[in-house]
This record gives sequence, C-alpha cells and structure tokens, in this order.
Amino acid sequence: MTVTPDPNTLDRFVYSQQPGYNETATRAAFTNAVPLRTIVIYCYDPRAAAIPVELANLWPEETYPGDLILDEHGSKVGSTATIFPVVVAGGRAVDALRSITIGHHLFGLENVVVAHHTNCGTSSFTPRGLFDAYDAEEGVDLSQTYGTESLAIGHLESSLRYDVDLLRQSAAVPAAVHVFGYVFDIDLNEFTLVIDDD
Ligand SMILES: [Zn+2]
Repeated sequence: MTVTPDPNTLDRFVYSQQPGYNETATRAAFTNAVPLRTIVIYCYDPRAAAIPVELANLWPEETYPGDLILDEHGSKVGSTATIFPVVVAGGRAVDALRSITIGHHLFGLENVVVAHHTNCGTSSFTPRGLFDAYDAEEGVDLSQTYGTESLAIGHLESSLRYDVDLLRQSAAVPAAVHVFGYVFDIDLNEFTLVIDDD
C-alpha cells in the first residue's frame, strides 16, 4: 500500500524547510552535535560488518557505534560516534566521494579509511567477465558505464593503492584529511595497514 501524505506535513522533518531556518547556524549545530572524525569505507558483505567496531578497537580514541544523544523531549539530536561507515560493494572509494564531501561539510573530517577485505566477492570476477555476463544475460553494455579499476579487486595492494590515490586526487577530499588503506581479515578480525598516506 502507498499513502500520499500532505507534502507540507513531511516538510516538518526537513531542517531547511523550518520557519526561520538559518543555514550557517544549522551547520554549526550539526558540527557540535556529531563528533565525526573518521569515515571508513568497506564492503557490504555481511562477513565484513565488524570493520567499524574493530577499527574503534584499533584506534582507541575513536568511538563506534557510540550512544545516541537525546534532547529533553526524547528526540534524537546527535550521537557520540566518531566513525561513520560508508558501506559499498568491495569497499571501493569511488562510491564514497559524495558521502565524504557531505560528512566534511557538516561535521569536519580528519581521516578516511579504505578497508578491503579477504575473500571479497569482488575478487571472484574480472571486469571483462562482468561486462560479458551483463551483455549475454541482460542485453546491455556496461563497459562505458564503469571504470574497470573500481569494479573488481584483482590484487589487494593495488586496489588499495588505486583507491587511496583516487581519494587523494579528488577535490572532494581536503588535503588535510589523512587517508589510510587497510586489508581486513574477515576470519581473524584483524587489520593490516598497507598504505598510510598521512
Ligand atoms: Zn567484499
């Protein structure tokens, strides 16, 4: 079933549609409410779901998932988490650029961690194999849609290098942000630091 609510009712939940909205003051309030320091990009594979918790264990000054902060009415107005996850196939950086931009704008950002994991599904195929299968099975040509370098993981070290370089060269990632590339072992729950682009 689909309901069609009054659009004005839904606007109650949109900050910029509130009476007296002030963008500068709202941004400052967001910065104060959320102590984001680190974005971690990792794979949507459920076997990799421990990554943000394990990163908080590895970096003791970081907090994840932390606690929600409630106001006097019980509304959720912030949290203590300093790590924000960006969860995408393979943990590839290309999918995270917009989220990094918005996270930095609203909360300020110090670190971006790219975590590629062992036995990732994206290491089970090649870009050519994916394009050929889409062509044969769906009748579409994706070869001009995606760059081959961000589709599949052929080597863990070079995929991390590619993603760290992509982030470093992107205008979306401020030069002061530290970028790290880790391999995460899904069976041992252990990180190996491969690239520290500090
Ligand atoms: Zn994966």
